[in-house]
Amino acid sequence: MTPPLTDFSRLCIHTITTRPWSLKECIDNYRDSEVPAITVWRQALEPQGAVESGRMLRESGLRVTSLCRGGFFPADTDAKRQAALDDNRRAIEEAVEIGAPLIVLVCGAEPSLSLSESRRQITEGIAAIADEAKTAGVRLGIEPLHPMYADTRSAVNTLGQANDIALELDHSHVGVTLDVYHLWWDPSLEAEIRRCGDAGKLFSFHVCDWRFPVRDILNDRGLMGDGCIDVRRLRGWAEDAGFRGDIEVEVFSTEYWGMDQQEWVERIKDAYLNHT
Ligand code: ZN
Repeated sequence: MTPPLTDFSRLCIHTITTRPWSLKECIDNYRDSEVPAITVWRQALEPQGAVESGRMLRESGLRVTSLCRGGFFPADTDAKRQAALDDNRRAIEEAVEIGAPLIVLVCGAEPSLSLSESRRQITEGIAAIADEAKTAGVRLGIEPLHPMYADTRSAVNTLGQANDIALELDHSHVGVTLDVYHLWWDPSLEAEIRRCGDAGKLFSFHVCDWRFPVRDILNDRGLMGDGCIDVRRLRGWAEDAGFRGDIEVEVFSTEYWGMDQQEWVERIKDAYLNHT
């Protein structure tokens, strides 16, 4: 049995979880709610730019856990693949500006290509930017997505596939991001978490829950305790595999975005202690 979390020292909230708030509002409210860490959705940087965002974040004293997201490597033309690499290079620069030690990679999929060809292009794309990420001091976390997203968002759909890519590339700055929403159903999950941890590749950990029924595959995630994922058990597996990093609450939810966001943050903190 995994013991419950007893304090908020590892709690990170992803800015998409409080989507109605600007980055400034996220920073001020997280800090006032004693949430110590933040993951920044890239779009949240746009209004004020990465440099000003970095200044705000440094001033706040919040720990930046990651920048979300890079990736989307596969494409049906060389020009589009090149544009994707350029965009990932911009993401690395932004991560440096805001002090994020990690970029989460949503790897992409091109529906006109086979999934195996998309995965080949993903591996090639990550290989192309890995040294630049290392030079910048930024790690890359391959995040496998649920197979429902295999058409356009990611051809990496299991932790086994993400581990295979990370181990094939064998690069100090390439590892894996484990998100319970995408992976909870996989019968090989416990074994693959161990494999990932043993290789030193478990870089980050996202939590939420799987509601039943899911009303919208993109924007109807549950808060921990709302659904059928045994989040605490999965956290236990990650910790048994050596993971000690921040626990990132990432809830895309039209329903929760409609709530008073300060109340929502209090509910997140409650679910963090009682269901994570
Ligand atoms: Zn995630």
